[in-house]
Amino acid sequence: MEDYNRILDDILHTVNSVDTPGNVASYIPELAKIDPFKFGVSLQFVNGETYNAGDYDERFSIQSISKVFTLSMAIQCIGDKVWDRVDVEPSGDPFNSLVQLEHEEGIPRNPFINSGAIVICDILLSELENPKDDYLQFMHDLQGSDKIQYNEEVFKSEKSMGYRNVAMANFIKSFKNIHNKPEDVLDFYFYTCSLDMSCVELAWCFQLFAQHGKCAPDGTLFLEPNQIKRINALMLTCGFYDESGEFAFRVGLPGKSGVGGGIAAVLPGEFSIAVWSPKLNEKGNSAKGMHALELFTTHTEKSIF
Ligand code: GLN
Repeated sequence: MEDYNRILDDILHTVNSVDTPGNVASYIPELAKIDPFKFGVSLQFVNGETYNAGDYDERFSIQSISKVFTLSMAIQCIGDKVWDRVDVEPSGDPFNSLVQLEHEEGIPRNPFINSGAIVICDILLSELENPKDDYLQFMHDLQGSDKIQYNEEVFKSEKSMGYRNVAMANFIKSFKNIHNKPEDVLDFYFYTCSLDMSCVELAWCFQLFAQHGKCAPDGTLFLEPNQIKRINALMLTCGFYDESGEFAFRVGLPGKSGVGGGIAAVLPGEFSIAVWSPKLNEKGNSAKGMHALELFTTHTEKSIF
């Protein structure tokens, strides 16, 4: 029987004893204020056993991890029609790249890069009467409480500086793959990215992907196992932008990162795990977070491979 408290404490000690290079995201000014040396982890098994270490209870900006939740909602709304608007291939380009959109006529390569998530937000805007309220409600249902909220400062900060995303939404609109007003789509997209959550809260919400579509608080089936299979496959192949191959190689779990320094990942049928450390590597993924997850799956031999 593994002693997971000890394993997580050892990982915390190891990652904190190396001087990991990297920088906190600064293109969203509000994120530049975060203490770069934070580190937290929460490991939650499907049977409810939970193990935490470090700053596991502190909330941080989930940023692109939101892309997994908005995709889940879009699949709930329109099922396989999502794939008429967004492809399912890794991009091999940075998360905020526009280059492939030109060749692929405004169809983003996958839902986990900015262009893809913006199209997913457009779908939700068309389908839902109150997209922001419905998104927050979806998160509260997954969490079993209404504690998760958006961070207005982060939202405004990104909205005032998100020029690349503005360019992207307009570019996609020129190919007619955005149906609403680009500014409305972006307003919703920035909102989805600006939620604050802790490692414990994220790992709990990611039980959806560990439990084949069951919502952890009450066991309701939110998505079909086959739909979760696809989301998990996309997390493995596209969850870390142009570092998805490296993440699969080093860690071996489906997961999703965000520029707030969070990473959430799952071993389907067994556990969810969320880590947070704000310093990012050059691909925009948490440097210590990746290191910690690599240590975890190497030591426990718990990866999908
Ligand atoms: N809100 C961020 C952006 O659009 C999300 C990017 C990320 O976390 N990789 O740039």
